[in-house]
Order: sequence, then C-alpha cells, then structure tokens
Amino acid sequence: MTRPSTIVPVALGDRSYDIHIGPGLIRHAGTLIRDAVGNRPLVVLTDSAVAELHLSPLLDSLRAAGAKVLDPIIVPSGEASKDMEKLGEVMDALLSRGIERKTVLVALGGGVVGDLGGFAAAIALRGIDFIQVPTTLLSQVDSSVGGKTGINSRHGKNLIGAFHQPRLVLADTDSLKTLPKREVLAGYAEVVKYGLIDRPDFFTWLEANGQALVDGDDALLTEAIRVSCDAKADIVAKDEREGGLRELLNLGHTFGHALEAEAGYGTALLHGESVAIGMVMAFDLSVRMGLCPAGDLARVKAHLTSVGLPVSAAHLGGGAWTAEKLAAHMAKDKKVKDGRVTFILARGIGKAFRCADVALQDVKAVLAASLA
Ligand code: NAD
Ligand code: MG
Repeated sequence: MTRPSTIVPVALGDRSYDIHIGPGLIRHAGTLIRDAVGNRPLVVLTDSAVAELHLSPLLDSLRAAGAKVLDPIIVPSGEASKDMEKLGEVMDALLSRGIERKTVLVALGGGVVGDLGGFAAAIALRGIDFIQVPTTLLSQVDSSVGGKTGINSRHGKNLIGAFHQPRLVLADTDSLKTLPKREVLAGYAEVVKYGLIDRPDFFTWLEANGQALVDGDDALLTEAIRVSCDAKADIVAKDEREGGLRELLNLGHTFGHALEAEAGYGTALLHGESVAIGMVMAFDLSVRMGLCPAGDLARVKAHLTSVGLPVSAAHLGGGAWTAEKLAAHMAKDKKVKDGRVTFILARGIGKAFRCADVALQDVKAVLAASLA
C-alpha cells in the first residue's frame, strides 16, 4: 500500500506529470515509480551529502518494488558539480552501466543534482526518462516544475541545457529534516515569491504560518510546497518556453543575480538569500516609481525578517560594494534584450508585472539604499 499524498498535476499535454508531496515518499518511491512508469531499469544519481542521508532507503524501496536497479552514480555535493567535466563523467557512468532507452534516471538531491541529472537524461541516448526526488525546499518548490535542466559554463550560470520534463516528482518533506536551516530558509524565499507574484492570500497565510513551516511542520510544508508548485505550474503551463509570462518568476532575481555575481556564487550568499534581498529591492523600486503602496513593501520586509532572511545588502561585501558595480552586473544579465533590462515590479503584494521602462537612476537609488 502506498500512502495517500498530495498531488499537483503539471499539465503539459503528452509530457504531463504529477508532483507528489508529503512525508514518507522516499520509503514508498519504489511503488510510486512503478505505478507511474512501469517496471523499468532504474539508475539513481545523487550527491555525496545526500547519499549519506537518503540513498539507502531509496534503493531499498526501489528494489523492494522489484525494479532492476543499476549502481548509483554519486557526484560531489555543491554547485561545482554542474559543469561540463562532471556531465562527461555522469554520461560515461551511465553508458558504462549499459543503460537502454527504457532506463529511467532518478535524480535524488537538490537543484544541482536535478539540473545535472535532468540534462544528462535529456542527452543520453538522445533522451531517456527521468524522475526527480528533490531533497531541498528550493528544489521542491522551484526546479521540480518547469523542465529546465542544465549546467553552468565559464561564461555564466545555466547557459548549457535543455528543456526536459520529468515523468514524476516525489517531494518528500521528511528529507527536509536533515537540511541545514540556512538552506531551508533559502528555499523559503522562493515560496514567498509565489505569494508576492500573484497569490496574495498565500502570502497572508505565510505571514501566519511561515515560522512553524520553516521549523519543520510537515502539514504546513506540504501545503506550502503544493501551492508553490501549483503557482509555478500555472505560469509554466501558459508559457512553457519563456515567451513572456514566465518572466514573472524572476521577481527578485534581476537584483538578486547582481548580488550573487558580486558575491561570486559561493556560500557567502545563497541563491534564496539573494532572492529575498532582491524581492525587497523590487518592491522598493515599485514604491519609488509610485506604483506600489509603501505599506506592502513594509509587509514584505517584516515577513522575511521574521523568519530570519536578509532584506538588505548592507552586510555584504565588507563595505566594498557600490550601486555602480551592482548595476553593471544587471546590464550583463542574460535576460537583457536590446540593452533593456526587464524588471518584475509590483503594484502590491500578489500583483507582479513586467516592466521594461525603468530609469537607471531609480535602480541605482534602490541599490544604494540597500547597501547603506
Ligand atoms: P544543492 O543541490 O546544491 O543543495 C544544497 C546543499 O544541500 C548541497 O550541499 C546538498 O548536498 C545539500 N542537501 C541536499 N539535500 C539535502 C538534505 N535533504 N539534507 C541535507 N543536505 C542536503 O542546491 P539547491 O539549493 O537545492 O539548488 C540550487 C541549484 O538549483 C542551482 O544550481 C540552481 O541553478 C538550480 N535551480 C534550477 C531550477 C530549474 O528550474 N531547473 C530552478 C531553481 C534552481
Ligand atoms: Mg530562483
């Protein structure tokens, strides 16, 4: 018997799939996977940290369900594994295990393993199926929906990749119990983002429940992941390959990427932390442009602060950062079209929109205020 879990369907025609959310899913992965894709050979890709914590129960469950399970592939934990060299090693490992077109790759881990594994699956034998078992809050609410896979290049992050939808996603809230608190909070920033984009009632719900949620309450986590996946799936279903609407998901990211670029994509500033600061900057910009009530900016700041997320860049860079340096990073963002940066602004909480008409002096004022 598999336990009932919360399911978010992602509607993409013949590439539709379900996201299961709840506790205990890794222990039931074998039957859930067999139900979704049939009895097929499976190969698990994971990272060294996740392997220690969650690989054995997954393998036990797959074997118990009668699957042929190939030797797992383990890459080092961390963003550095999303590179061409590791991709080559993973491809070699897959081929040396004798994979066939019907073999299914199971990516167990955070966004790094999901992106690397999804891309490896997209190109192995011209494409094999893959299943995601995301084990970070960030990957459960973000990278498990949308089908973007890929690796980094020395020219920038995520520049080499493919759209490849998973066949199934199992977001086990139990796996978050071993995740460092700082990583939980980084993922939570993306949860808040969905409320700010177009789900104002969800933001209000987060104001009431956010603290208990980041402290690990399973029911609250399940509900927040469900709404987040649903919110992203909604936007992605309308714009699978990023024709416009999907840009809303970049709320906080244009500013955030500038902070990450200046910080050097390391552990000094996690992606979600940069998004938290970036969302505050986007609301600040909206207020300065007379588009958004100041009270909504205050609510965003207050909520992020209350759970322990950063809301300004003042603590970063040891005083060496300037608005000019950060603005220069934004001009280089891959989302820049014809020299114009499209900003995601807000008319209030839950009312995000795209705007390509922003004055540089307003952007610099926002950056300077955040650094002060
Ligand atoms: P990550 O995969 O590096 O995981 C963060 C850290 O937590 C790692 O050290 C990992 O080993 C560890 N970890 C993972 N699960 C754990 C667990 N349950 N218990 C203990 N430790 C655990 O990072 P992430 O934040 O999950 O993902 C970031 C990556 O995701 C970036 O490369 C980003 O580009 C990508 N991403 C992709 C998409 C997409 O749509 N494809 C969306 C958002 C982010
Ligand atoms: Mg993000």
